Amino acid sequence: MRAAVFTDYGEPLDVREVDDPEPEPHGAVVAVEACGVCRSDWHAWQGDWEWRGLDPVPGHILGHEPAGHVVAVGEEVDGVSEGDHVAVPFNLGDGSCHLCRTGHSNICENRQALGLQPEAPGAFAEQVPVPHADHNLVTLPEGVSSVDMAGLGCRFMTAFHGLAHRADVGAGDWFVVHGCGGVGLSAVQIADAIGANVVGVDLMDEKLDFAEEQGAVETVNASEVEDPAAEVQAITDGGADVSMDALGIETTCRNAVKSLGKTGQHVQVGLTTKEAGGNLPLPTDEMVTAEIDFLGALGMPPERYDEIFRMVATGKLDPAAIITERISLDEVSGVLDDMTDFETVGIPVIDEF
Ligand SMILES: [Zn+2]
Ligand SMILES: [Zn+2]
Repeated sequence: MRAAVFTDYGEPLDVREVDDPEPEPHGAVVAVEACGVCRSDWHAWQGDWEWRGLDPVPGHILGHEPAGHVVAVGEEVDGVSEGDHVAVPFNLGDGSCHLCRTGHSNICENRQALGLQPEAPGAFAEQVPVPHADHNLVTLPEGVSSVDMAGLGCRFMTAFHGLAHRADVGAGDWFVVHGCGGVGLSAVQIADAIGANVVGVDLMDEKLDFAEEQGAVETVNASEVEDPAAEVQAITDGGADVSMDALGIETTCRNAVKSLGKTGQHVQVGLTTKEAGGNLPLPTDEMVTAEIDFLGALGMPPERYDEIFRMVATGKLDPAAIITERISLDEVSGVLDDMTDFETVGIPVIDEF
C-alpha cells in the first residue's frame, strides 16, 4: 500500500509503497478513505512529545483521524465485519481494564495513541490496523461520508467530550475558547449547539471570521489587544462560565483561565510543546479564591459517539462544516509545514491516497 512515512523530525514525509498491515487476532484493518491532518501530527513530527512516549521513529506512519471501510478482521473479533463503515478514535483502549469497563476507555490503562506512538501505526496510508476492534471501531450512521466524518477521530469528539461530559456547559452560559484551530472551531460549533454564548479568541482574523460562521457571537483578536482575558471579562460582564485552551501554551492557558468568572470551569485540551515539557504555570491563587475548576479532556470513549450522531442526524451538529481543504497523501508534508506558522484554517482532510 501507499503510505506517507516519517523519516526525521521536521523533514518531509516519504510517500512510498510499504507492506499492507495484517489484523491482530483481536484487531481489524480499515481501508482509509479520509484522514484529517491535525496539530497533534505536527507535534509528533516536530519531536515535541518524546517525554510522553509519543516519539515517532523512522519508518513510522503518522495520522490519527481516519474513516473508511473495514477490509479485514482478526479471528477473535465478533462485532465488526468486513465492509462496515467506521471511524477510529485516536485513543485506542483495550476494552477490558477497569477504566474501559467504567466508561473511561479514552484514558485506558493500556491506551495507545493511534499514529502517535511506534506501536500504533497511523492512517496517512491506504490502510490502517486497529487493535481491539470490537471496542475501538465506531460504526458510522447511514448517509454520512468518510470525508465528512474524518474529524470525528480526534478534534470534533475531543471538543464534544470536553464540553458535554467534562464541563457543564448550559444554555445561556458564556463559553470562551482560546485558539480557533480545528479543535477550537469544533468547540465553537458544539457549544453554540448546546446553547452557550460563544467567544472565540485567536491571533488571526481569518480564523475568527470562521469562528463566527460556526456560531461565535463575539471574537477577540489577541494580537490587537493588550489583555485578551480582560476583553473577555468585559464582553461577558464578569467572566465566562467555561473556558477552553485548545493550544497548550502558557499564554493561551493562562488567558483562558483568567477569562473565567468565579466558580468557572476551565477545560484543557491542548497538550504542551517541547519547551514546556508538560508543565504550564497557572494563576493558582486566583483559581483557589475564585473556586475555579481545571478539567483535563482527552479524546472521547467510543461508546458515547451516538450522542454526536443524534445531533448530526437532526442537523444540530455538522462536523463537515469545519473541513476546509481536501488534499492528497503527497500534500501532507506541505500542510504540516504550514502548521508551523499556524497558517492552516479549519481542518485539512486527505481523501486521495
Ligand atoms: Zn488530532
Ligand atoms: Zn482499558
